[in-house]
Amino acid sequence: MALLKIHEPGQTPLPHEDERQLAVGIDLGTTNSVVAISNDEKPEVLRDKSGGTAIVPSVVYYGEGADPVVGEAAREQINSHADRVVSSVKRLMGRGLADVKSIAGTLPYHVEVPSEEATQSGEPMMVRLNVGDRVLTPVEVSADILRALRARAEESLEKPVEKAVITVPAYFDDGARTATKDAAKLAGIEVLRLVNEPTAAALAYGLDNGAEGLYAVYDLGGGTFDISLLKMQKGVFQVKATGGDTALGGDDFDHAIAEHLLAERKDSGTVDSLDASDAKRLLQTARKVKESLTGADSTDITVSLGGADSTHTMTRATFEAMIAKLILRTITITEQVLDDADILADDVKGVVLVGGSTRVPAVRKAVAELFEQEPLSNIDPDEVVALGAALQAEALTGGSDNLLLDVTPLSLGLETMGGIVEKVIDRNTPIPVAKAQEFTTYQDGQSAMMIHVVQGEREMVDQCRSLARFALTGIPSMAAGAARIKVTFNVDADGLLTVSAREETTGTEQEVAVKPTYGINEIDMANMLRESMMHAREDMEMRLLTEARVEARRNILAVQAAINVDRPLLERQDEDNIMAAIAKLEAAMSGEDRDLINQQAEALEDASRPFAEARMDSRIRQALAGRNVDQVNEFGS
Ligand code: ADP
Ligand code: MG
Repeated sequence: MALLKIHEPGQTPLPHEDERQLAVGIDLGTTNSVVAISNDEKPEVLRDKSGGTAIVPSVVYYGEGADPVVGEAAREQINSHADRVVSSVKRLMGRGLADVKSIAGTLPYHVEVPSEEATQSGEPMMVRLNVGDRVLTPVEVSADILRALRARAEESLEKPVEKAVITVPAYFDDGARTATKDAAKLAGIEVLRLVNEPTAAALAYGLDNGAEGLYAVYDLGGGTFDISLLKMQKGVFQVKATGGDTALGGDDFDHAIAEHLLAERKDSGTVDSLDASDAKRLLQTARKVKESLTGADSTDITVSLGGADSTHTMTRATFEAMIAKLILRTITITEQVLDDADILADDVKGVVLVGGSTRVPAVRKAVAELFEQEPLSNIDPDEVVALGAALQAEALTGGSDNLLLDVTPLSLGLETMGGIVEKVIDRNTPIPVAKAQEFTTYQDGQSAMMIHVVQGEREMVDQCRSLARFALTGIPSMAAGAARIKVTFNVDADGLLTVSAREETTGTEQEVAVKPTYGINEIDMANMLRESMMHAREDMEMRLLTEARVEARRNILAVQAAINVDRPLLERQDEDNIMAAIAKLEAAMSGEDRDLINQQAEALEDASRPFAEARMDSRIRQALAGRNVDQVNEFGS
């Protein structure tokens, strides 16, 4: 989500020209994809053979018994074979059962939701698409798109291409990122790095070399809207905030035009009531109308539906009136994001336009008005992300020694006693990163420790997302608090996490690569962030209360353990006092009053002090008699 340059001395000798590996930058978009290459920090997009467009529609046609067809040729098949054409598959990348159920109806093809048994048998909860006689996963469809991009690059460069930097939305979670890498692997592409789309756009504009300050990246594509606020300081971009709408984009403009045309024809019904292939055709026409209105003030259209042709004229003004509300929605979301981040539109130094829909003049105008400045738009908004990715690919293959770093989108932490989350790596930490934290055992003789890794901003485990659980076993028998367990979180450059735990006194070690359960989506993520802010205060209260309870329980256990060891040293009266104090403390612990718990915990400490002193005296006498002081068991401290 942010980028920064680091210098790795001595690590990047410039290879000879012929040894240099070709690495491309790929914008794998929901609607369109683009592949680009950079030489000497001059990136350029790779066009089709005829030197035409750089844009490859992210659409795949699966003809019977034929190889998949990708791009414009696939999109043209919508008219004749609507049910064999797969589009917008990016929306399904890394999605789990629950997400897909909620969006399946909005997709133009049948989505097979995995059965409950498949889910329970531990099968990854992958979505499958039924396309003709094939059953495909979103990863396979993405791989087909990537294969086509790779083929285009190889044809254009006349050299094999095996490496790429691929961009992903900033909000893509571990699951979606892993799915993207899997797709690349299937397509025979080694992913040098996954880079966030706004980061790539900022790079393409060279903002990393520009003035320090705040920048906004406004990305309106085919079906999604994303707004990101980046803060650039000393060549480092930090994401201050992101927001957007995953169901708002140029497709909605098409829809508005299609409805308008239907209404003019006085056909009854709406686009949704047409049969699937008529609807796709009408929307296709609408898209052409929209795109021509970017350059022209007015356009003529012929619509043929149900055997009846009709002709229409649409002006840009009519179109703009139709989409005013949709544009306003992006502006409102942007204002909200600015507001949440405590940033004034005025403070923003530059605005980058990304996505084909920012070509619409009314969109540019609205963005310019909000930020009171002309947005940066001299780089083609369809190409800017791929160009940034190509620059990054060049840097990573030794063209320069600048390396980009992203940041973690959500905090990563561990469950500790009482279901409290101990954050190990905070949200927005630049990656790669490794951080370790020490934990200890809670009970005497505890031989295993459950490590539960969670992601999220909230203070309590059940409000965060569970990523992995594993046990560190074989901890030697020690008194509570004596074991030193070091848990290390390692996030690699692609944002993937490995967690290891090591008991330091004995070297017992366990490690897991956190294989994300495909499933969190951007909506969940936005909700998790929003809720963490909304609940920050009550979460803190809850955390403090839980901590007080955990601490109190620990004290009780320690006192009881000490009594078991040294009962002969315990005076009758002291025992009564201690038992009474424990009873009172337990009563307080079952309530919600944190102060009362702390107060009763102190009372227990007071009640057990004479006993603790007696034990201490006895230990000292033993030590003087040649015994080992290390056997002193601490408690109540
Ligand atoms: P994504 O990031 O979702 O893959 P893109 O950034 O490629 O999408 O944007 C695709 C959208 O841009 C489509 O809705 C397309 O119709 C729209 N678009 C492309 N060119 C123009 C244009 N000249 N005028 C208006 N909209 C355009
Ligand atoms: Mg895009």
